[in-house]
Amino acid sequence: MATRKCPMCMVVLAAGPVAARPDELICVNCGQTLEVAGLSQQAACWLGLVAAAASVRYSIHGGAANPLGWAIPVVVGVMVFGIVSALALMATADLRVRVAVIEIPIAHSPAGHH
Ligand SMILES: [Zn+2]
Repeated sequence: MATRKCPMCMVVLAAGPVAARPDELICVNCGQTLEVAGLSQQAACWLGLVAAAASVRYSIHGGAANPLGWAIPVVVGVMVFGIVSALALMATADLRVRVAVIEIPIAHSPAGHH
């Protein structure tokens, strides 16, 4: 598994665009349209969820005296999910060639009355 490497020309892409737009990547060298492979996306997502659950678990008593203290674990969980999943994607993203999806127009049947 090559981290953030174009499968066509083997150039390593920058980490920022890979984390920001994993479905719409364009290789800076050969111009090939790329995307992050499904397993890499799922691994990053699950890692972010585990980190978020752990952070909620450990921040749940942080704002007990504050009337809005219930919101602190929620905010911390969302922030930790976003940070950890993006970092995991930057560190482990496996790129593949994006297959262009061609939309075929559905044939319009004439409205006939029988
Ligand atoms: Zn390339």
